Amino acid sequence: MSEENILVVEDEKDIQELVRYNLSREGYRVTCADSGEEALKTVKSLLPDLVVLDLMLPCMDGLEVCRRMKKEPDMAHIPIIMLTAKGDESDIVAGLEIGADDYVTKPFNLKVFVTRVRAVLRRSNNEAPREEEILRFPELVIHPGRHEVLVNDKPVSLTYTEFGILKYLASRPGWVFTRNQIVEAVRGDGYSVTERSVDFQVVGLRKKLAGAAGRIETVRGVGYRFKESLNE
Ligand code: CA
Repeated sequence: MSEENILVVEDEKDIQELVRYNLSREGYRVTCADSGEEALKTVKSLLPDLVVLDLMLPCMDGLEVCRRMKKEPDMAHIPIIMLTAKGDESDIVAGLEIGADDYVTKPFNLKVFVTRVRAVLRRSNNEAPREEEILRFPELVIHPGRHEVLVNDKPVSLTYTEFGILKYLASRPGWVFTRNQIVEAVRGDGYSVTERSVDFQVVGLRKKLAGAAGRIETVRGVGYRFKESLNE
């Protein structure tokens, strides 16, 4: 059984109870908060391993809670899964850019939700690979130092920008990145790309990746995710 602490922030009692029940059943220790203010106090004293944060809260909303957590050195590392209404892409994008790790849209499937929780906890326990570390997947190998990509053992020729995007996404399998985050990340490496051109780059990238193309998932209205498994 897991000993991990999860804080659930949700003002709707039914949903709060449903989430609490299902996470407890998985062996997590669950604490609940009804408001943003209470959430921040509890995060500070409890330092949970994960926060499940509804964005629609009275007074201080979820985005503000997220913003404040990410500003505090002792809270900034705690992963956050946002609960959002379907179709609230702008909130999802804002939350991811502030530093939330993932999101689930309501009404949600509890199985999917629990899987997301497990994945975020697992990922937050794994450090990001070092800059030059080779990224290996069953059908795909990325050599950052050599600027080389192999798909099913065959070299694939990518442009600098395509390579930058692939390396960035693949360095964090399972994480969702917004277009803006992708631009910021590859720009830092001296590539030239805009938010709009990310989509075109990804189209080109997928074509070249052929058998590994399915790794790059479009998250509608939000951005892209490198799938942890091809058959996911
Ligand atoms: Ca709510």
